[in-house]
Amino acid sequence: MGKTDLIDAEIVGHEGAHGVYALDNPAEAVELQTGINNEKAAIARHDGSFPLPPDVMNKINTSLNKTETFAQQTEQGINAELQANSKKKGGS
Ligand SMILES: [Zn+2]
Repeated sequence: MGKTDLIDAEIVGHEGAHGVYALDNPAEAVELQTGINNEKAAIARHDGSFPLPPDVMNKINTSLNKTETFAQQTEQGINAELQANSKKKGGS
C-alpha cells in the first residue's frame, strides 16, 4: 500500500465510523440530522432565525462532537493497524 492508499483507508474508515455511530445511536442521529437541517434552513431564510436558540445549538454541537470523537478514535485505530502492518511487510 502506498501513502495515498493509507490516507484513503483512513478517510473511508473515518466516514464509515460516522455511519457506525449513527447506527449504534439512531435516535441521536435522527435528532442531530433534524437539527442540522433546521440550522441550514434558518441560515437560508436570512430572517434572523439563525443562530437557533442556544439550547438547540448546544445539543447539535454536543452530538457533532460525540460522533466526531468516535470517528477520530476509529481513524487512529485504523492508522495504528496500517502502520503496524506496513512495518511488518517492510513497506513504506
Ligand atoms: Zn468526521
